[in-house]
Amino acid sequence: MDFDKLYKILKDQPKYRVSQAKAVIFDQLADNWEQASTLPKELKNQLNQACPLEIKGETKISSDGQSIKALLILADDQKIETVLLSHKDGRYTVCLSSQIGCPLGCSFCATGKMGLVRNLQYGEIIDQALFFARYLAKDKQRISNIVFMGMGEPFLNYDNVIKAIKYLNEDFKIGARRISISTSGVIHGIKKLATYDKQINLAISLHAPNDKLRTQLMPINKRFPLKDLLAEVDKYIAKTDRQVMFEYLMIRGVNDQPQHAQELAKLMKKPLYLLNLIAYNPTEVFKASRSSEIRKFKSILEREGVLVTQRYSFGKDIEAACGQLVVKREK
Ligand code: SAH
Ligand code: SF4
Repeated sequence: MDFDKLYKILKDQPKYRVSQAKAVIFDQLADNWEQASTLPKELKNQLNQACPLEIKGETKISSDGQSIKALLILADDQKIETVLLSHKDGRYTVCLSSQIGCPLGCSFCATGKMGLVRNLQYGEIIDQALFFARYLAKDKQRISNIVFMGMGEPFLNYDNVIKAIKYLNEDFKIGARRISISTSGVIHGIKKLATYDKQINLAISLHAPNDKLRTQLMPINKRFPLKDLLAEVDKYIAKTDRQVMFEYLMIRGVNDQPQHAQELAKLMKKPLYLLNLIAYNPTEVFKASRSSEIRKFKSILEREGVLVTQRYSFGKDIEAACGQLVVKREK
């Protein structure tokens, strides 16, 4: 949805048209302005021309039925992927992309291999949620949580991400506490978010307990090393008094050994730090840790007094885990 074009057209209309249009988009979840009973015919035609509600895409459902991947086609024919995860308790989480590809090139990440194609506009970010909202509405269900864990680094497209969050929170009515941004550790983004007035959640992709290994896995660690990153997180916590989640992928033989757990415990034993161990979705480069290794790793951290949880990944068979999204290049 191109909101800038929408406002341009509504500029010459009575003021209440904006909230009427937003209700059509976010409450009615219409996919054609024709369905807007509140708007005059001529305006509907104009809107269908300038900023159509249609979102082009196709879905692929995983065999366990827990995750659905959508491939959306944007106005310039670029493609992005986004994922809907269904939880046993009836909640639905959408995993949004913030960029087409990602410039940061983490060695374990499929998206990183693509490089950056371009940033997404805030309307394109919102469309990913609307696509699944319409999909769920058919079964009278709705999205309960939003995470920025799809393609791209949200803090390298800060303004569009924050603008999208404003709509998703204020117009689409997803509580700020149910919205999370995951970052690879872009320090100026963390600093900015600390002054943001909505209480959204921050997650940090850590994946290694020391600079040497982290730089190998995540080149951005050279620019924003662990000490600086964690210092910024501490400032964020001091300012917001909010819990920060650290994501740690369990990659076989790379970062999953007992000495890594010991090292990690030293970094993570702080108030309002929460460590989340995540099953790695195998790629051509790395394998997932064995469950016995994960158990051992987790018990070391628990013994050291770290607050640690474990997340199982979804949608392995459709390569739809968050962070595993990539648009295969066509010939
Ligand atoms: N760029 C941001 C957000 C998108 S990546 C970031 O890195 O935090 C979202 C998450 O998916 C990150 O924690 C990332 O490390 C993780 N991820 C990447 N590749 C993965 C894989 N193969 N299996 C499971 N998670 C993966
Ligand atoms: Fe980019 Fe995040 Fe993938 Fe790293 S893990 S390449 S930052 S999307």
